[in-house]
Amino acid sequence: MLTQNLGYPRIGSQRQLKKACEQYWAGKIGQDELNRVARTIKEENWQTQLDTGIGLIPCNDFSFYDQTLDMSLLLGVIPQRYSPVLTQVPGNSEIDLYFAMARGYQKDGLDITAMEMTKWLDTNYHYIVPEFKAGQEFAISSEKVFGEYQAANKLLGQRAKPVLLGPVSYLLLGKEKEQGFERIDLIKKLVPIYVDIINRLKRLGAEWVQLDEPCLVLDLSAKEKDAFNYAYHCIANGVSGVKLLVATYFDALLDNTQLAVNLPVKALHIDLVRAPEQLDEVLALIPPNLRLSVGVVDGRNVWKNDYVRSLNLVNKAVEKLGADRVIIAPSCSLLHCPIDLELETGIDPEIRNWVAFARQKLDEIAELGQITRGNTALLDANRRAMESRRSSQKVHKQAVKSRVAAISETDTARKSAFPVRQELQHERFNFPLFPTTTIGSFPQTEDIRQLRARLKKGDLTIEQYEKAIEEATIDAIRWQEEIGIDVLVHGEFERNDMVEYFGEQLDGFLFTKNGWVQSYGSRCVKPPVIYGDVSRPQDMTVRWTKFAAAQTTREMKGMLTGPVTILQWSFVRDDQPREITANQIALAIRDEVMALEEAGISIIQIDEAAIREGLPLRKAKRPHYLDWAVRAFRITAGGVRDETQIHTHMCYSEFNDIIEHIAAMDADVITIETSRSQMELLQAFAHFEYPNEIGPGVYDIHSPRVPGTGEMVSLLARAAGLLPARNLWVNPDCGLKTRKWPETKAAIVNMVAAAKQIRELI
Ligand code: GLN
Ligand code: ZN
Repeated sequence: MLTQNLGYPRIGSQRQLKKACEQYWAGKIGQDELNRVARTIKEENWQTQLDTGIGLIPCNDFSFYDQTLDMSLLLGVIPQRYSPVLTQVPGNSEIDLYFAMARGYQKDGLDITAMEMTKWLDTNYHYIVPEFKAGQEFAISSEKVFGEYQAANKLLGQRAKPVLLGPVSYLLLGKEKEQGFERIDLIKKLVPIYVDIINRLKRLGAEWVQLDEPCLVLDLSAKEKDAFNYAYHCIANGVSGVKLLVATYFDALLDNTQLAVNLPVKALHIDLVRAPEQLDEVLALIPPNLRLSVGVVDGRNVWKNDYVRSLNLVNKAVEKLGADRVIIAPSCSLLHCPIDLELETGIDPEIRNWVAFARQKLDEIAELGQITRGNTALLDANRRAMESRRSSQKVHKQAVKSRVAAISETDTARKSAFPVRQELQHERFNFPLFPTTTIGSFPQTEDIRQLRARLKKGDLTIEQYEKAIEEATIDAIRWQEEIGIDVLVHGEFERNDMVEYFGEQLDGFLFTKNGWVQSYGSRCVKPPVIYGDVSRPQDMTVRWTKFAAAQTTREMKGMLTGPVTILQWSFVRDDQPREITANQIALAIRDEVMALEEAGISIIQIDEAAIREGLPLRKAKRPHYLDWAVRAFRITAGGVRDETQIHTHMCYSEFNDIIEHIAAMDADVITIETSRSQMELLQAFAHFEYPNEIGPGVYDIHSPRVPGTGEMVSLLARAAGLLPARNLWVNPDCGLKTRKWPETKAAIVNMVAAAKQIRELI
């Protein structure tokens, strides 16, 4: 039976790519060195997969920043505003254009904004959103995929399988930047380019080409379904002698099953981890020649594969199709997994035996293949690991389960309705109109990171470490006072990451040393692993919040991460429904909120950055998720007094379809990301007549670019045109931890000036 992989992490086991990109951006290394690092990572990845014995091995799954941006470059979808990067700056080349699109370009006398970025379906990976205009033309404009295929082919021969984002998903995941057309209608112009690309790959030797079409698991309009048919018939007619594999993942095909199985391609991949139930329908409808790639190894989580369960699915497919029409695969690209469990030396061996990272998942795919060929000895150890996890006391805690079962309706609501609270809070705080604040973190400079590294190594005592963090906090507070911010933050210098920091202090969490996963560009996160029932043994943030509050007479926000975000940005148990884990975390955060209030903190922000990204891809599944997600947030905030102001923060993403649920969270103040989309998002809030206070971000923190005051004033004016001025706050899009101090200071000073100007104007 054939095995395959769909994609492999590309950051390098020591985050070499992150480091190289950042050095390149800082002008510390040149393009040759950057390319050398990239080449080494690719070759190592290919070699690993080859050694494991995987049948079809992906290439072009590497990317310097994002594979969707790679597609935009390949297809020539390069917004006009970037041309000066090449035409006006001698010495710049394709890679500089590419990074300019990803990050904006503010040097050499140019000032160009970055392209929009958003979450990749329901993951915490971010892609650069393709921008389309009405007269959009396409043309092969980058050699990357061809070069990468040739390099892979040298090492892997026929096993090398180039990966492209398929044409329909490419269009659907993009955005119209002009009025008067629908991007899906561009399919006619786009498809011939795909034909050319695939033919070129074929001429270079490619036997298989993987086309990712994750949009096949979404609710599709008739027109979008037609586009799939049209595109793949054109491609099938235009190419010959190459096997096409269409890959779907993250959910079931459902009403798109008929469409998907009848596309004129050689193989279809389906995700049987997220949606094992879809196998029956796919098998019932599959035509005689289509091969089926069964995604049975979880590409989105870290749990060891349950071989018995996977083999049930594989065998079912084999019974119907025969072994030569079945391919064993991970559920999706392994991009979303940490790289190698071997690098984790500190994990409790009992728990470690339940876990598999990307490297180990390759072994699992290969082993499943071997078991189907008769090597059943491989089953025993796996069975024992599964049983040990099911019965372990490290996982199951009766007290936690009972407390969740006892949550009541009064636990989930504030004492009074928002208008009453708003009166009380306005009286208490007496802020000006358009109060200014930031989202929580300030730059995590190399100095700060070094402190933690030195503490871990034992080069610093805990007292020395805390003293240094206190100094950074005091500096940040003084600076905020100086420039006149209304609601201060302590800067989160003591936190490595907004989820890991809490995970480290909660029971039921495990944290890794090297379990990095790419979030966007060079930014990686190290999600904790929730393996057991969650509880909070002691205060988590009170010490630092109290310390910070004592340094100033201004208001100091307490800063917590909400339950859905902790859940969403962790690797979650797959042995109980997510909502139960969410409620366990919610109770822990609620206890922390109460402890902060008790300590005299009057404004508490509970970040729910990830609530939108947890939304099921299919509309029919959304109400249930939103019910429990909103309820979990309300549990965290439900205990405080009316005068205590609860903030929440959400990262960008479209809220249009869930605005009533955002309102149901009933936070006193919500801050959201709006600057890159020019306040577009706010229209939905206006349309809904969102009643509570809101801070639409005016500063795009994902780019080093410093926005001017005038720019921010006009964004605020636009906001004031949409929502009552008394409800508006002024803040950046998100936390500032990934930025450097100089640009942060310049931007926030401009932001405070913008708030002053808009107060005059209104
Ligand atoms: N308080 C967090 C910070 O500022 C929020 C970040 C986020 O939502 N992504 O870093
Ligand atoms: Zn954010």
